[in-house]
Amino acid sequence: MRRSITVFPKLTDKEVSAIVETSKQYARAFNMSSECLINNSSTSKRFLHKVQYERTKEECLSLPTGLIQCARDVAVEAVKNWNVKRTKLRQKHPKKAEMMKRPSMKDKCTMRYDVRTITLRGSQLTFSTCDKRIKTIISIPEFFTERYPNSDGWKLKGANIGINRKGRVFVNLIYECPDSINEIKDGKIVGLDRGVYNIVTTSEGVHYGAKDVRRVKRKYNHVRSELQEKGTRSAKRRLKAISGCEKRFVHDQNHCISKKLANSDEDVFIYVLEDLSSMNMLRLKGKSNKTMRKWISNWSYSDLEFKLSYKCQKNGIKVEFVDARYTSRKCSVCKAIDKASRNGNRYTCRHCGSSMHADTNAAINIRDNYITRALKLGQAAINQPYGWSVRGKPETEPLDKTLTSKPSGLPEGR
Ligand SMILES: [Zn+2]
Repeated sequence: MRRSITVFPKLTDKEVSAIVETSKQYARAFNMSSECLINNSSTSKRFLHKVQYERTKEECLSLPTGLIQCARDVAVEAVKNWNVKRTKLRQKHPKKAEMMKRPSMKDKCTMRYDVRTITLRGSQLTFSTCDKRIKTIISIPEFFTERYPNSDGWKLKGANIGINRKGRVFVNLIYECPDSINEIKDGKIVGLDRGVYNIVTTSEGVHYGAKDVRRVKRKYNHVRSELQEKGTRSAKRRLKAISGCEKRFVHDQNHCISKKLANSDEDVFIYVLEDLSSMNMLRLKGKSNKTMRKWISNWSYSDLEFKLSYKCQKNGIKVEFVDARYTSRKCSVCKAIDKASRNGNRYTCRHCGSSMHADTNAAINIRDNYITRALKLGQAAINQPYGWSVRGKPETEPLDKTLTSKPSGLPEGR
C-alpha cells in the first residue's frame, strides 16, 4: 500500500534555479534513455546501462549519478507502457500506432527521486541537485502524521520533485507499508449500485443522493455556455477560473461518500461494485436520451471507485467487482429479468409482485451476483451467504433459498 503527501519547502532563489537546471538535465537523460531503448527495441535496464550510461554522463555533466539512474528507471517504465499501448492500438488503427508520440520529457519535468537521492530525518529533508545537496526543513501536516505514523511500518520510498504551474517547487513524498498489517475483518457483504440520481445506493437500502452534485453541475454548465457565447477576453478569464471549481466540488463529494462507506459502523467485509469499465460506453451508445447521455458522460464513477478502494484497504475491507449486465432489470427476489418492471426509480416485479427502490434492487443484485460467483469458484470465505457473516455460524436458511431472499434491512412489502 502506498500513500503520498505533497509539501512545499521554502527555498532560496539559488536553490530553485539549481532545481530548474537539474530538471533540464534530468529530462535530457530521460529522453536519451528512451530514444536508445526504442531504437534498439529493448526494455532492459541492464542493456540500457551498458550502452548509454557513459554517454549520458558526458551529456549531462553535473547531473548526479543517482539521478541518472532514476531517469533511466523511469524511462524503462515509460517505454514499457508505450509498447503496451502501441500494441493495443495497432490492432485497431495500424496507422495511428505508427504515428504515436514517443515518450519524452520537457525541461520543467517532475523528477523521481529514490532513497539514495532523497533523505528525510525528522523534519530535515535533503536531496541532490546539479549544484549541491539541498538541505531544508519541512513540516508534514498533522493529519498525515496522525494517520500514518512511522512506527506502523510506513517507510519513505522516494519522492517526486518538480515545479508546478505557479512556479513553486513541490516535493511529493511517497510512503509505503506492507499490506499485511490489515487484519481481515469478519463481516457482511454489501452491494453498491452507482448511478446518476443516487451516487451510491447500498444493498441495505441507504442512498447517497446526487442532488448537490447535479445542482452544481447544472449551474456550471449554464455559466459555461453563457460565457462561451460571449467569448470576450474577460469571459475567457472567468472560464479559466471556474474550470477547476466543479471538479473540486465533485472530488470533495466523492471523498465524503467514500469515507462514510469505508468507516461504516456496521461490520462490512466486502463491498461489491459493478464493473463499469465497458458498461459506460455501452450505455452511451444505447437508447438513453440526450440529457441522460450528458449526465453519464461526465459522471465521475471511476474517481469514486479509486477513493473507495484505497480508503477501504486501510480499514481491511475488500472491494470486488462483478459483471454489470442486467443488474437494474433483474428482480432481486425472483431473479426474473424484465425491463418493463422498472418504472422510474421504482422496481415493481411483474412476476412476483415485490416492489422496492430500483437502485436498492440493483444493489442487491450486484451483491448476489458476487455471492453466486464466489460460490461457483468455491471460495471458502463465503460459505454462509445468508448470515452475511464470513466466519460466523450459518443461519437456518438453506443456501439456494438464500440467494433469492430479501435482505434483512428492507421492510416487508416495499
Ligand atoms: Zn420478482
